[in-house]
Amino acid sequence: MAEQANVIDNPLPKYNLTEEQERKEILRQYRSLLRSLRPKLKKGDKELVRHAFEMSAEAHKSMRRKSGEPYILHPIAVAEICINEIGLGVRSTICCLLHDTVEDTDITLEDVQREFGNEIAKIVDGLTKISNVLDANSSKQAENFRKILLTLTDDPRVILIKLADRLHNMRTLDYMKREKQLKIASETVWVYAPLAHRMGLYNIKTEMEDLSMKYMEPEQYKEIARKLAETKRERTRYINEFIRPIKDKLIAQGLDFEIYGRPKSIHSIWNKIRKKGVAFEEVYDLFAIRVILNSPQEKEKEDCWKVYSMITDQYTPSPERLRDWLSNPKSNGYEALHTTVMGPQGKWVEVQIRSKRMNEIAEKGLAAHYKYKEGAGEEDRFDKWFGQIREVLSHNDTDSVDFLQDFKTSFLAEEIYVYTPKGDVKMLPVGSTALDFAFSIHSAVGSKCIGAKVHHKLVPISYKLRSGDQVEIITSNKQKPTEDWLNIVVTAKAKSKIKDALREEKRKIADDGKYILQKKLEGMGAAFHSNNIEILEHFYKLTSQLELFYRIATKAIDLKELQDFQVLGDKLEPPKPAKPVEPEPEYQKTYSKKESELIIFGESSDRVEYHLAKCCTPIPGDDVFGFVTTGKGLMIHRTNCPNAARLLANYGHRVVKTKWAKNKEISFLTGLRIIGLDDVGVIHKITNIISGELRLNIAGLSIESKEGVFEGNIKIFVHDKEQLHQLVARLKALNGIHSVERFEMEDEK
Ligand code: MN
Repeated sequence: MAEQANVIDNPLPKYNLTEEQERKEILRQYRSLLRSLRPKLKKGDKELVRHAFEMSAEAHKSMRRKSGEPYILHPIAVAEICINEIGLGVRSTICCLLHDTVEDTDITLEDVQREFGNEIAKIVDGLTKISNVLDANSSKQAENFRKILLTLTDDPRVILIKLADRLHNMRTLDYMKREKQLKIASETVWVYAPLAHRMGLYNIKTEMEDLSMKYMEPEQYKEIARKLAETKRERTRYINEFIRPIKDKLIAQGLDFEIYGRPKSIHSIWNKIRKKGVAFEEVYDLFAIRVILNSPQEKEKEDCWKVYSMITDQYTPSPERLRDWLSNPKSNGYEALHTTVMGPQGKWVEVQIRSKRMNEIAEKGLAAHYKYKEGAGEEDRFDKWFGQIREVLSHNDTDSVDFLQDFKTSFLAEEIYVYTPKGDVKMLPVGSTALDFAFSIHSAVGSKCIGAKVHHKLVPISYKLRSGDQVEIITSNKQKPTEDWLNIVVTAKAKSKIKDALREEKRKIADDGKYILQKKLEGMGAAFHSNNIEILEHFYKLTSQLELFYRIATKAIDLKELQDFQVLGDKLEPPKPAKPVEPEPEYQKTYSKKESELIIFGESSDRVEYHLAKCCTPIPGDDVFGFVTTGKGLMIHRTNCPNAARLLANYGHRVVKTKWAKNKEISFLTGLRIIGLDDVGVIHKITNIISGELRLNIAGLSIESKEGVFEGNIKIFVHDKEQLHQLVARLKALNGIHSVERFEMEDEK
């Protein structure tokens, strides 16, 4: 096979079977599950699996999925994923079959424990807890995620099964309501895909991203999928041309191998298009060539390098694009050699070289890793990773959304490896600074850090480390952490240690303020008791005593206002407050529902105040959702707003379904970025189309020109998306125009 397929759009058939046919279908899928499991079955296992299947089928008997199919097909499918795509075994299969029973049926945890023992009961319990926290509408998604991670410390299989569960739900998302699709898709791309990546499940990660995109960006998704299909033949021809000479050489060497090309995923192509601002045509031929060697474990590294040398004899490598994860595997276990070489027709091609064993780890991650782990050797990288997570989770009291962000950058990001002066390796997330490194050694080293030496050269604490750096930390006893440090570090560990230190410092300073206040109150004849302190806290609009004492100590509050207080008995009586000034609202013009364009579902009141989010400036026709904010009412965002994924993933329960109604009365502000050749008169032609022919109002126009290329940002008022499309088509048809893209207003900053 020259090219492996991307995820394809393959909706399930609508369910329309008789009871008898249904029963046969369930049995058919169960038998297929047993076939997948056969190589792993030991004596007595088959009976256990059958028991779990029967128990689950009986319990879910009267339940159906949104597609109409019998519910039991879902646990069976999740089990298939765990076996075939993650490489898990019999115990996990049983857990998969039972994963929704305690949550949704009459089966109790005690039943599971009695029938299958402690190990399985514990995992099912973990899975039940996850779904409990995930489905609870009242609490935040981010907080839930933290709880999920806590279960990870018990048994990683809970997370692996949860990932399989989520993948199957994503594969069958078609039957959900639109707002549910958006919520689940964004949660998947925000949390589960990075988690899958971190667990080393590259295929699952990629599929999750592609499926999320299918629901969040349906138009772009379809367009890229279509273009990929159209260009497939051309790509296959090129891959074959590239592979042929290498294949001959490898055969001549007597190596046992497989070689093939693999296109980039739809999601990653789309990311490139967005981030680099290039056209599909400039990235569509991106693919990786994979060489998978069937070498014995003691010869695999040697063989990988042999292949590397043969390929680079044939094609010139790009010197800075060699990635050696043979000598330093990633902490999720990934091992391979990557290089980028100049192929035929002057195209850069990425080549990944690894052994069969390494490939299995690359595809099945954690589970395959454990399978190959032999005897007691160095501490396992996974164990280390779990250890670090446990440490951070055990003392973390920050806001959970912050926590989720920290967690993502600390544990789910790509990583670099750096060395201590003694040559010990430390893994840190990409973007880590010398200060992160210092805290990774010890919090006492971190809080005294004043700089570092990297390869014997002096660098500041904010120095961004790169793989291979050897770092020596310089400390001073006079040093102490400041607020700025929080912006320098990226690791969760460093952040929480700095916050601890700052809090401690604040407490010390606050003690002075406490003393000052006590003297002052006693001087006025008022008592220094919590009642009076609360009154002052309230008066200065502060959230804690600590804050009040601290501000007094730092003279941010000078207590002059106390003159206006009265003392009744020993109690303070605050002066009557002056009428507060209404703050200027920071959002765009507001519309009430009556005169508006928008239909908001699930709201009984017919006057719902809403605002159009400034970050994505939705216009009628855009795919939108409503988001219930605290204080600003309902905020309308585009589903492809840069903030959408974060909002949907963290606060899915606050999402309200909305739809545009037809109305040509109101205009909405939007922006276009036009890039083209700086031809005399082109600006005139553009403005002529906008205000002359289409009679649209221009709210702002800025043009910059450099070496014959201009970039123009235009803000215009349009009625809806249709009108905007019409305008874009007209502009694109102009001579010398390279691209016309809608931009987010945020981009301007
Ligand atoms: Mn499930």
